[in-house]
Amino acid sequence: TSRFVDVELAPPVPVFALTARYREDNHPNKYNLGVGAYRTDEGLPWVLPVVRTVEQQMAADPILNHEYLPVCGLDSFCKASTKLVLGDDASAIAQNRASGVQTLSGTGALRLGAEFLKRCLGMNVMYHSKPTWGNHIGIFQDAGFTDIREYRYWDASTKGLDIKGLLEDLRAAPEDSVVILHACAHNPTGVDPNPSEWEQIMQVVKEKRLFPFFDSAYQGFASGDLDRDAFAVRMFEKADFEMMISQSFSKNFGLYNERTGNLAIVAKDPESLRRVRSQMEKIARPMWSNPPNHGCRIVATVLGNAAFFAEWKDNIRTMSSRISDMRRMLHEKLRQLKTPGNWDHITNQIGMFSFTGLGSKQVDYIINKYHVYLMNNGRINMCAITTGNAEYIASAINDAVS
Ligand code: PLP
Repeated sequence: TSRFVDVELAPPVPVFALTARYREDNHPNKYNLGVGAYRTDEGLPWVLPVVRTVEQQMAADPILNHEYLPVCGLDSFCKASTKLVLGDDASAIAQNRASGVQTLSGTGALRLGAEFLKRCLGMNVMYHSKPTWGNHIGIFQDAGFTDIREYRYWDASTKGLDIKGLLEDLRAAPEDSVVILHACAHNPTGVDPNPSEWEQIMQVVKEKRLFPFFDSAYQGFASGDLDRDAFAVRMFEKADFEMMISQSFSKNFGLYNERTGNLAIVAKDPESLRRVRSQMEKIARPMWSNPPNHGCRIVATVLGNAAFFAEWKDNIRTMSSRISDMRRMLHEKLRQLKTPGNWDHITNQIGMFSFTGLGSKQVDYIINKYHVYLMNNGRINMCAITTGNAEYIASAINDAVS
């Protein structure tokens, strides 16, 4: 008998299980609104033109090699990406008390940060929004956090932010809790706090001495504007918080499988930052030893060259405006069908996802009858909607709620 005979079968990861079901489906009109990746209006993955150009240059460059990177990654990438999120004029950068560590994308940045907070600061309580990106919980649990708590976020009755509940829950948090804040384009709800709500959140984080850990997975992708999407992070930086920011280049560069990320760290002084970085290096070495080069080389090249940078911003606007167009189109089709209920949240929400408000029974109905695959919680990837399928998807939703 196998040595593994008593190993328990782990449950599948929901979003990957959904994609597997979609692949097995032979229906000609099947659509996958599950996985969070950009699609063109033809329903295809998109390599950003600026990325293609840089890759072609790299392929022709006789000097580039595949030597190991340092444990903390490619310095030019970490510097450029920290600056991208904190802003060119951030005092923390000018005062040498902010820097980055290259990670295995956003997931790796969250994990590295969580490992550090547990191991070096003894933190054990983590707060996440209800709901949140599911992996936040697993990442912090596996890093040793035993006390994972929720703060209220989504108000099902208004299909908006429950700011009162959010503030109440954070006010009741013990000191030194880690609080995960989605920098923009909240996943899965597509609902972000407005500037005055961010101000209130910041006040509570300060009063209660919570540790802000921003998850920035959609900078530029949300509004089409890199600065606007970094608003909340920069507000905290200006108010002199110590914090971490996990940055993912999966979505805004379309580099999903290249695992390109940065953990930006802001400390009170350069000496503290140096000590923190030394511990990060100690954690990363036995975990992945050193990070991959391809994606970060592309990002560093683009961020370090004015012409490429301008082209990238243009590519980002292409993606974000297609998403806005699809929001308007789906909304309009539902209106034409006189679908019961108010669907304004489809156009009010921001980012890659829309939290439709569909319940799990309606979701099952849509999957089984229409072969349109969406997450059990009603989340849909707006990028998977195209001018060709919007009507079909709207009629599926209409049928499910009528
Ligand atoms: N955080 C949020 C909120 C996300 O939605 C995602 C990806 O879907 C990530 C982090 C991390 O993605 P990656 O590890 O590909 O950077």
